[in-house]
Amino acid sequence: MLMKLMIGRTHRNIVQSLVIIAFALTGIGMPQAQASESATPARISTVYTGDVINGKKVVSSLNTDDLEAGKKHLLYFRGVQMSTGQYWYVSVIVAKGAKPGKRITLTSGVHGDEMSSVQTVQTVMSQLNAAEMSGTVMAVLDIARPAMESMQRRWPSSGRGFELTDMNREWPGNENGLGAVSRQAGLVFNRLLRPNTDLAIDFHTGTTGLDVSSFHIGDMSRPEVKTMMMLYPVAAIWDNPAYPGVLHNAYIDAGIPSFTPEVGVARRLDLKAISIFVEGTLNVFKHYGLIPGKIGHTAADTNVYIGKNATPVLATQGGFIELLVKLEDDVTVGQKLAIQRNAFGEVMAEYTSPVSGRIGGVRSDATSEPGNVLVFILADGATVSGTGAYSE
Ligand SMILES: [Zn+2]
Repeated sequence: MLMKLMIGRTHRNIVQSLVIIAFALTGIGMPQAQASESATPARISTVYTGDVINGKKVVSSLNTDDLEAGKKHLLYFRGVQMSTGQYWYVSVIVAKGAKPGKRITLTSGVHGDEMSSVQTVQTVMSQLNAAEMSGTVMAVLDIARPAMESMQRRWPSSGRGFELTDMNREWPGNENGLGAVSRQAGLVFNRLLRPNTDLAIDFHTGTTGLDVSSFHIGDMSRPEVKTMMMLYPVAAIWDNPAYPGVLHNAYIDAGIPSFTPEVGVARRLDLKAISIFVEGTLNVFKHYGLIPGKIGHTAADTNVYIGKNATPVLATQGGFIELLVKLEDDVTVGQKLAIQRNAFGEVMAEYTSPVSGRIGGVRSDATSEPGNVLVFILADGATVSGTGAYSE
């Protein structure tokens, strides 16, 4: 989930957080990633390290052209080293179609507490029969593994004592960068993702403490991004490129259309949301001719709300929160969203909506300190329904 408003430890992170807060409040002011000329990098080679882990061969770089067509391949990609000298490996599935076609990459686990993103990608991959496909689908499932090992958003590392780093502010990374997280991002992006990808989808969910609905984050002014996002039967789209350093913007900078689906709530499997994103992803494959079949439900069927801003309502006090709205509710300016009480049960604050729009996220804990996001509202947009409204 990208909405997290956090104050980081470093100056850079504090500045970035302030910019993000300003951005989240206004929806303007962040530079939009520019599509670069699609510079064709030199052909990358597949390098097998010679290791086999749990029966899977290990690569330190991959060119999916080198893999046998018409088959599914399970590999480990060797990422950055730990401080014990061992490596963080990343799990890779490649469904290499019998015939050539688009190369689509699915990623999950950039944040470590977002389990429905992983199950969405696993489910999609389980439904592919490479022998009947035209094109290649690559899945990379557990990119920020140390964060996943402890079911938390950020990557724990030891640069200046114990640190937690949000990997989704580090892309495209730097193989020679400051710290393990930047290096992991650089290795994964340069040697695995970018060389093998025509279109990319980086799956996320809400975050611990903030439940979200089923929605996308992406820039609707980019035709292929819009086409892909509208192929999902989601409740809402945040029509916005979001922040620098997120994986989908690193792809965009490399000339690869990409966006971020948010697959419901964090930590546990959100089966309803997963089914929405599995259907949408299979629609994308059908649209681009990777697999046969009829397109299923899309955003044209869901009265999707497309908003330019994600407007947060922050707690002004500490205390116990009673929410009066739920995910996907439509709200109007001035509508009461939440009541906050102290330990005596006295009402300390009431929160109303500053905008009209659709509820995209709600705090999942029943208490809050001041400054936390209680609710965010996708706003400054409109609902879109019926076929043709946003079709390409
Ligand atoms: Zn996330």
